[in-house]
Amino acid sequence: MSHPTDHKGLFIGGRWSDSADGARMPVINPANGETLCTVADGTPTDGRAAVAAAVAAQASWAKTPPRVRSEILYRAYEAMVADIEQFATLITLEMGKPLAEARGEVRYAAEFFRWFAEEAVRLDGDFGHTPDGSTRAMVLAQPVGPCLLITPWNFPLAMGTRKIGPAIAAGCTMVLKPAPQTPLSSLALAAVLTEAGLPDGVLNVVPTSRAAAVVEPLLKGGDIRKLSFTGSTEVGRLLLAQAAHAVVKTSMELGGNAPFLVLDDADLDRAVDSAMTAKMRNMGEACTAANRFFVHEAVVDDFARKLAERMGALVVGPGLEANTQVGPLIDPPSLAKVTALVDDAVSRGARVVTGGKADRGRGYFYRPTVLVDVPADANLCFTEIFGPVAAIQSFSDLEDAVRRANDTEWGLVGYVFTQDVDKAFAVSEALEVGMVGLNVGIVSNPATPFGGVKQSGIGREGGRYGIEEFLERKLIVMPRRA
Ligand code: NAP
Repeated sequence: MSHPTDHKGLFIGGRWSDSADGARMPVINPANGETLCTVADGTPTDGRAAVAAAVAAQASWAKTPPRVRSEILYRAYEAMVADIEQFATLITLEMGKPLAEARGEVRYAAEFFRWFAEEAVRLDGDFGHTPDGSTRAMVLAQPVGPCLLITPWNFPLAMGTRKIGPAIAAGCTMVLKPAPQTPLSSLALAAVLTEAGLPDGVLNVVPTSRAAAVVEPLLKGGDIRKLSFTGSTEVGRLLLAQAAHAVVKTSMELGGNAPFLVLDDADLDRAVDSAMTAKMRNMGEACTAANRFFVHEAVVDDFARKLAERMGALVVGPGLEANTQVGPLIDPPSLAKVTALVDDAVSRGARVVTGGKADRGRGYFYRPTVLVDVPADANLCFTEIFGPVAAIQSFSDLEDAVRRANDTEWGLVGYVFTQDVDKAFAVSEALEVGMVGLNVGIVSNPATPFGGVKQSGIGREGGRYGIEEFLERKLIVMPRRA
């Protein structure tokens, strides 16, 4: 692989270019606030050019044999794993997470390519006779067509591969608009896929600081047949309304407000271990992050003490430093938001067991924080914290805890800790979420369906369901004569 920061242009129709008006935007290192480099800042004209390239490539790409599509993905998977250090360094530089976590993201991201390389050659259909025996019916899987993929900054590589992998496998062409904070990972992906043999125009990447101006005309223009979005619920709602204009098929991976329930019979050490993952992975900047801890009153003091000991001992620092366990938040508004949420909870009666303030001078660091006695009306109970803050409430009645856990418009994931198998299933079934971590603090895996219910999203990514989002099912009917 060429050096990851080599690619700083738009990638349209297989060519690197400047933006139509020559504008560039800075990529900031959140560990020190300094500019890493600048990248081309796409305009609406560039967006239209990218869609035109995707449209031009669609017919021949759809006809490309599934085995060929599969092998391109497989080669890209191998290249990413071989270049894990370069990709990980790039993620850490533009996004901030510690290098060890960035390596984990590269492996996770690459696995989507391997998984969908295996799915590309298993696109089955159906054949049957209609009930009255008069007709033959065939159901065929076909690519939905040119796709628009919009991704957030928190997993800059994996949120791309989770969409690009199934789109390539299904035979779709695409335009990727990465988050402006983290365009370099997406540009590096374009380079690796090109080296793996992806034809020109199949993947086009348009970083831009002018998302609204670039995206709306594309969604309404009629050429884009599929929108796959990962980001906040607020922006998801807006894009759903825009997608309605040309009745664009949509997948929405939106925000979460995960409950983390610890019952009185839970294995407390396992619950604390898992809480460290569910809360601290990605500095808490994950849609799956545990946002509200509900802990039985019999064990709440022990749980909070153990969690605070672990959280308080974490080393906060720049992600590239070898001993760093917690990196900076993405940008100053995120730091201000986390600070305000903690201050609000404390002003309403929550108690700080550890942390509770920003850390270090430069960069956007916040100390790992544990709050107890969090009142139900604290803003962080109904806001995605997106930071390293564990907010603990206690409960005495399990039914009431489940009711409180479900008392949110979001429904992405929930975590349950108990050793009682009946309660484990009862609570898992009662939680209004798309995914449950049962005695475990992480649910994501490329081989399983990821997604939410309620206002956390529409559709699933990963697993054997992920590719369906990029396919249409066509019915072909013919008479059956004796
Ligand atoms: P965001 O503000 O919603 O932005 C996500 C993407 O949408 C960015 O590329 C952004 O670009 C773009 N965007 C914003 N407004 C737009 C508009 N009007 N038209 C077109 N594109 C627009 O979210 P974020 O802060 O990057 O990411 C954090 C959110 O993502 C959290 O809510 C998190 O829970 C969610 N998330 C969900 C999942 C999941 O799988 N469910 C996974 C990861 C993250 P600009 O920044 O330039 O506007």
